[in-house]
Amino acid sequence: MQTGNNSQFAKRTPPSPVVSFWQTMQRRTFNMRLFDTVSDSPTIPNAAHEPVVGYIHSIESFGSVDGPGIRYIAFLQGCRMRCEYCHNPDTWNIGVGEEMTADEILADALRYKAFWGDTGGITCSGGESLIQIDFIIDLFTKAKAQGITTCLDTSGGPFTRDEPWFSKFEQLMAVTDISLVDIKQIDSAKHRKLTGFGNENILDMIQYMSTHGDDMWIRHVLIPTRTDFDEDLTKLGAYIKTLSHVQKVEILPYHTMGFNKYHELGIKYPLEGIEPPTPDRVANAEALLHVQDYTGYLTWRPQQ
Ligand code: SF4
Repeated sequence: MQTGNNSQFAKRTPPSPVVSFWQTMQRRTFNMRLFDTVSDSPTIPNAAHEPVVGYIHSIESFGSVDGPGIRYIAFLQGCRMRCEYCHNPDTWNIGVGEEMTADEILADALRYKAFWGDTGGITCSGGESLIQIDFIIDLFTKAKAQGITTCLDTSGGPFTRDEPWFSKFEQLMAVTDISLVDIKQIDSAKHRKLTGFGNENILDMIQYMSTHGDDMWIRHVLIPTRTDFDEDLTKLGAYIKTLSHVQKVEILPYHTMGFNKYHELGIKYPLEGIEPPTPDRVANAEALLHVQDYTGYLTWRPQQ
């Protein structure tokens, strides 16, 4: 899930190498193979006494748009969706990336604790963060034990009520203070065309969060010819109104910053020729989603 410099997208912009402390305050991307053989197994060793290893795409130590306050953001490797607008296709492969344990992430993150204030902390994003649910449970459990605020950034793609996954998800929600959830298209058929998958399980996850009192931000990427339809936006706005604990609703205007990465990887860019939405269309989407009604984020604090 990525939102990037303002949302899902900014996260997907090319990262900068680290050569100084202040540069590390931006983002570190680890060297990794691009488009190797894609393993479909989550590959998380979880045997007793063995630390859970996370596969990390990059680290942003001073993020300000992916959750409340200033946050240390771990972008996890792996995603099964294939969103046409994805700006970081190099996060798709599963089981590659920098291997780090929760303890290693925490030790690194705590160097920035002075910047977090009452609401900042650690965010897990992706790729699709829930691909590595065992790792996030371990990381967030240890973070909460130290009083650190935790935030999950997800598209919800892996969500299922099948066991043992569902019990793990419940365990994760118990140590998650807030979730950033993308609804890519409220119409499932269009969602499938846009991402390769329908949205039924994603809406089921959001319903679970709403029912169980889990705080969330809802994000929606506005893409001409894909998601910018009044009919769908109206339906999405009505759907969000049925939910509880929505602290914020954001429209993320599509942009073309990912084009070069596709070019470098030799992949055809699916949205070539599609321009970002105009300010009028963004304002229209914000009105149809009633963005101004969701102000809980202004005073949000982690639930005790
Ligand atoms: S393909 Fe995966 S990582 Fe890319 S935008 Fe979609 S959910 Fe996010």
